[in-house]
Amino acid sequence: MRFLPVFLDLKAGPVLLIGAGELLRAKLRVLAAAGARIRVHAIDGNQDLGLSAEDAARIDIAAGDPLTADLSGVIAIVCAGAGDVGIAMSVRAKALGLPVNVMDDLEHSSFIFPAIVDRGDVVVAVGTGGTSPVVARRVRERIEALLPARIGELAEFIGGFRKTINGRIAEFPLRRRFWERVIDGPIGAAVLAGRKGEADAALKAISDPSAFARADKPEGSVALVGAGPGDPDLLTIKALRALQDADIVFHDELVSPEILDRIRRDTTRVPVGRRIGKPGIGQDAINQRMIEAARSGQRVVRLKGGDPLVFGRGGEEIEALVRAGVAVEVVPGITAALGCAASAAIPLTHRDHAQACIFVTGQLKDGTVALDWPMLARPRQTVVVYMGAETLPIIAARLIEHGLPSSTPVALIDNGTTTQERRVVGTLATIEQQARRAELDGPTLCMIGEVIGLTLARESEFRFVSRIGL
Ligand code: SAH
Repeated sequence: MRFLPVFLDLKAGPVLLIGAGELLRAKLRVLAAAGARIRVHAIDGNQDLGLSAEDAARIDIAAGDPLTADLSGVIAIVCAGAGDVGIAMSVRAKALGLPVNVMDDLEHSSFIFPAIVDRGDVVVAVGTGGTSPVVARRVRERIEALLPARIGELAEFIGGFRKTINGRIAEFPLRRRFWERVIDGPIGAAVLAGRKGEADAALKAISDPSAFARADKPEGSVALVGAGPGDPDLLTIKALRALQDADIVFHDELVSPEILDRIRRDTTRVPVGRRIGKPGIGQDAINQRMIEAARSGQRVVRLKGGDPLVFGRGGEEIEALVRAGVAVEVVPGITAALGCAASAAIPLTHRDHAQACIFVTGQLKDGTVALDWPMLARPRQTVVVYMGAETLPIIAARLIEHGLPSSTPVALIDNGTTTQERRVVGTLATIEQQARRAELDGPTLCMIGEVIGLTLARESEFRFVSRIGL
C-alpha cells in the first residue's frame, strides 16, 4: 500500500482547484458535493463552470496566475486538465508541504482521489493506488449494492444517542454489546427501513441499557422475503442482504437451489412448503416454528417464491406473528407474472390492447374454480392465472362461455426466468391440447389476452442480452 486512506476536514480551509474544460468541471462537482470551499483558477479563461446557485456561494472564481497566487490558508491543491501549469503547481505545492493532486499523474501527486460511496456519515473510500480508477469504480458499485441505503442514517441515529448511553454504561465492552444488539435487532432494522420515529421510541423505552446489553437472548425477528420467480439475479438487494443476515431460513419448495445457494453457509435451512402430491408441515405449524425461532432470539427469514404477498399466504403469517408480538418485516420480490412477462417480453398492459391486468388464482375451492367469469371475460385486459395448470380446461371453457373469442391468445410459461423455462403459445381453443402434449412439469403461469399475440408470435426477432459485471 503506497497511499493511506485518510479523511480530510473540508472545514479547515479552501481547496485550490486549477484546470480547464470538462475535467475541471468534474472535479469541481466532486469537491462541491463534499461540501468543500473551493477557489477555482480556470486557466482557459472559461468562467462558465455550470454551478448551481447554492454551490456558487461556496466557490470563488480566482483571477491571476495560480503559480504566483497567495496560498495561505489553502488546505490542498487539485489540478485537472491543467497541463504544464499542473506540473509547475505540483512543484510549488511540494516545496510548501501542501498536499497536491494532479489528475492522472501519480509522479506529481502527493495524494489521490478514491472512488467514494457516500451515505452521509458513512463514507467508503476505494483506492487502487492510482493504477486503475475503472477497477476502483467497479469495486465501489459492488459496495454500493451491499450497503443498505440508509446506513448513513443509522450512524447518525446512533450518534444522537451516544452521549446518553455512554453516561449510562460505563464499561466499554458492554457498551459495544449494547450497540451491536441495537444495530442487529429490530431497532436497527426500523432505522434501515426508514421508520426512525419507531426506532427512536424503542430505544428510549430501554429502561436499563446495561441489562439490555447483558441479556442472554437478543430480540429475534422475522422477515417475509420474496425470492422472485427463479432467476437468482432477480433477487432484490434487500432480499440478498436478508439471506446473508439470517440465522434460520424457512423456505418454500418452489424456491430454486440457485437461490438457496445465496443463503449464508452456516444458516439453518428448513423446507416447509407443500409440493404437488406431497403435503407440507401445514400453515399453523410453520407459524409456530417461526414464532419459536424468533422468540429464541434468532433472525428468521421466511423465504417464498415470487412476492410474499401475492398468492403467498404472507397475510396469514403476518397476522400470526403480530399476534405473537414478534417483529415482522416484508421484503418484496418479483412476482411470477412480472418475471415471466419480462422474460417473454409480453407487455402486460398496452395502450391499444390492454388497459388492465388482473392476477387470479386458478386453484380449486370446493371442487370448482370460483372466479368472477363475466369480469375476466371482458375485452382489452390481460388475465394472469397463477396455480392454474390443472384447471386450465375449465378456465378456457368458462372464458369462452362468457364471451371471450376462442381465438384469444394464451401463453403458458413454465419455470419462467430459469434456465428450464418453456413456453407454449396458443389460443383459448387450442391451449388445453397443446399443454397436454408439452407435458409441462414446473410451476406454470397462464397469461390470456391480446398482448400475447403482439410479441410472442414474432419471438425469433428478439435478442436477449445479458449484462455481466466485473
Ligand atoms: N408468491 C408467488 C406465487 C405463489 S403461487 C409469486 O408472487 O410469484 C404459485 C404459482 O405461481 C405457481 O403455481 C405458478 O402459477 C406461479 N409461478 C411461480 N413461479 C413461477 C415460475 N418461475 N414460472 C411460472 N410460474 C410461476
